[in-house]
Amino acid sequence: MSTPLLQVKGLHAQYGPTRVLHGIDFEVREGGITTILGANGAGKTTTLRAVCAMVRTQGEVWLGGERIDGKATEAIVRAGVAHVPDGRGTFMNLTVDENLRLGAYTRKDKEQVGEDRERLLQWFPRLRERLKQQAGTLSGGEQQMLAVSRALMLRPRLLLLDEPSFGLAPRIVQELFEIFGEINKSQRTSMLLVEQNAALALKLADHAYLLETGRVVISGSAESIRNDESIRRSYLGY
Ligand code: ATP
Repeated sequence: MSTPLLQVKGLHAQYGPTRVLHGIDFEVREGGITTILGANGAGKTTTLRAVCAMVRTQGEVWLGGERIDGKATEAIVRAGVAHVPDGRGTFMNLTVDENLRLGAYTRKDKEQVGEDRERLLQWFPRLRERLKQQAGTLSGGEQQMLAVSRALMLRPRLLLLDEPSFGLAPRIVQELFEIFGEINKSQRTSMLLVEQNAALALKLADHAYLLETGRVVISGSAESIRNDESIRRSYLGY
């Protein structure tokens, strides 16, 4: 086993008085892909928001041996965590290119920023065709590609993906997930993927956690969960 890049211990989260996460533990390996599965309202989105300090938390969050809980979201981004929220998170009034450049705002290595932009445009050629277009005019799939690209322009150590398949046509989802796999392999970008489409997520991920009302009820290798018919039937609905 390689060392975890992200290690979360006893994480609680709440919105005002409403407690949503009740002490969850999970990890993302260096270079790995972890998925968090669960029904609507289980706390998946909140888990990603908790890692980025966008919600009140208790517990420990470690990134590569450094404790990041208690830091501001901005500092967590600078530490190398990029978040693609549900609902995409692009700046609709800016062009595709402006969105991409904004993604790299914390970086000083301008030459490599240019190379990364080029690589992303090779992965997502549709964005190249639309560089000067306002993000708000893109299709849902293109907006998701832009949101992911913008996050990758940060050259993150860890990419947090919230329901990237949501609302997209199956063909686009397939394409997007293939590219996630390629990015993970070629750049060793670690990923924490929240998904309702369990079958899809378990194909991409190496490790999975199943959340139920803010608690981890099952965890294991993605392969073992994929092959466990009773878990699939009882929890994952396929
Ligand atoms: P979904 O797939 O529907 O987004 P989820 O597993 O991501 O589900 P969360 O969005 O994390 O679940 O929500 C977990 C619980 O927290 C739900 O009961 C939800 O109603 C509640 N919740 C989410 N956001 C807020 C908020 N801003 N204020 C109060 N409660 C919230």
